[in-house]
Amino acid sequence: MRGESMARDTKKPTVKQMQALLAEMTTTLEQQNQMLRVVFAECDKLNMVMVRMLEAQGLLHKEECSECGFKINTPLLEDIALPINCPACEHKLRDEEE
Ligand SMILES: [Zn+2]
Repeated sequence: MRGESMARDTKKPTVKQMQALLAEMTTTLEQQNQMLRVVFAECDKLNMVMVRMLEAQGLLHKEECSECGFKINTPLLEDIALPINCPACEHKLRDEEE
């Protein structure tokens, strides 16, 4: 430790400054991660609410891929077409509508 950290260039950050900066960056990253977790949890909740509401209104088309068993929920709303291929395995579910 002795002498090693003595920077010739005074503009060069000291080890202490670097550590402080690193700690600050780590804290920021942790805060961002925490924020992302909250956002994802909220999205999940919203998605669940949407699916339940659509289901209750009879506006949810449920199907299961005959190939891989993937469960596909599609809202029966205007301009939302039923998927032609399974999102999981690309298996063809139906003929393309023209
Ligand atoms: Zn599939």
